Amino acid sequence: MTGPTLTFLGGVREIGGNKILVEDGPDRVLFDFGPSFSPRWEEFYYNFLQPRSTSPAKDLLEFGLVPRIEGLYSREALADADLAYRSPEVHAIFISHAHADHAGHLNLVDPEIPVYVGEGTRVLLDAIESSTSMKYGPHAWRTFPDRSAVRIGRIEVVPFPVDHSVPFAYGFLIRTSEGTLVYTGDFRQHGPRAADSVEFFRAAAAEKPTGLLIEGTRAGPDRRRNLSESGVRTEVDHLLARHDDFALACTYPRDVDRLTTLHAAAQRAGRELVVSARTAHLLSSIAPRWPGTPLPLPGTPGGVLVHQRKKKKFYEYEKPYLDTALSSEQLREQGRRYLLALDLAHFPELIDLRPPRGTPFIHSMSEPFSEDDVDDQVMHNWLDHFGLTFHQMHASGHASTSELFEIVRSVRPGAIYPIHTEHPEAFAPLGARVRPPELGTPYPVAR
Ligand SMILES: [Zn+2]
Repeated sequence: MTGPTLTFLGGVREIGGNKILVEDGPDRVLFDFGPSFSPRWEEFYYNFLQPRSTSPAKDLLEFGLVPRIEGLYSREALADADLAYRSPEVHAIFISHAHADHAGHLNLVDPEIPVYVGEGTRVLLDAIESSTSMKYGPHAWRTFPDRSAVRIGRIEVVPFPVDHSVPFAYGFLIRTSEGTLVYTGDFRQHGPRAADSVEFFRAAAAEKPTGLLIEGTRAGPDRRRNLSESGVRTEVDHLLARHDDFALACTYPRDVDRLTTLHAAAQRAGRELVVSARTAHLLSSIAPRWPGTPLPLPGTPGGVLVHQRKKKKFYEYEKPYLDTALSSEQLREQGRRYLLALDLAHFPELIDLRPPRGTPFIHSMSEPFSEDDVDDQVMHNWLDHFGLTFHQMHASGHASTSELFEIVRSVRPGAIYPIHTEHPEAFAPLGARVRPPELGTPYPVAR
């Protein structure tokens, strides 16, 4: 093939694991580089059984869990793999947002390859790295301003902010010598930044793209209940109005929109939102980059309070909060004053929290995909043991099928590539332009 091409190296018939290579002549740009969640990864690695730290790329290449691309991986990650080390032949990597299924393999990459992220994402990745076991490795980081073109040889990339369940998420216009591709990243249109998504798709339509690479997380059968972000707020308000003792919630640690929703609802109910030190660290780190209404921060009036879990060793990021944090015993004594955000991993604190039976537990996360989800079973065992009442209240980070279809119709792309979905066939009603992609097959960008 002589003209520019795009190749899907992940995110095909799976939710996550996006890896998209765009080539135009000698220029090669990769969009996202995240591990596949399941099932392929878990066929070989799970729990304690993980790739060796001395040769992670080699150990993943063994099972085809990462693509065989020359000039991408670092010498260290390859070690003595049968894919030999070569100096960079991928000229840039663009990361759409800070979720692991899009950025989680950066640690395998040659540190000389420039990695482009939004300014907020850069701060967010730093905060994640300093407070979790996630490591992205050293890189030639570059930050891009919103809606301004970045040129990599013949390829021009224009990043547009979009609404998603992690802040600072982007979609991209990818201009090549023979047409423009639109890559949505992950997005929704029912959150606080819906207007950003709308503006992106308006710009995308104006581009008359030859191809639309669209996420389809919620395409196909989806019986799970989904609210809008403001719908979550209303339901939490109602719930807190009915209870005057302790209340608990759990949400994704980087879903800043949900944290601000829970905070606002707690304040309305005359309560304080109490979060983990990790969440406090994240909010404080990104606050300077946060557009719009200021975030609720620890140590500020009307901000968040910090929960002091029992542990022997404290990390650097936790230390600023130790003096003022509240223990489980303190929270228990005046339960009605608080709404505590408690992660599943921190459930042993329930043994000291001893919430009164019937205490509401707001599950503000996605319902499990399968009925034999182990985390879900364990969570319910704990809730049952302590007599907590379960309330599902969540707004998805992803667009619904009808929204996806409406967007495709408004953008009018030459070809439609459904990715980041287990059901690419659900796009079939959109007609002959739908091309459910095959893994590793180059497709022409030209119309
Ligand atoms: Zn994703």
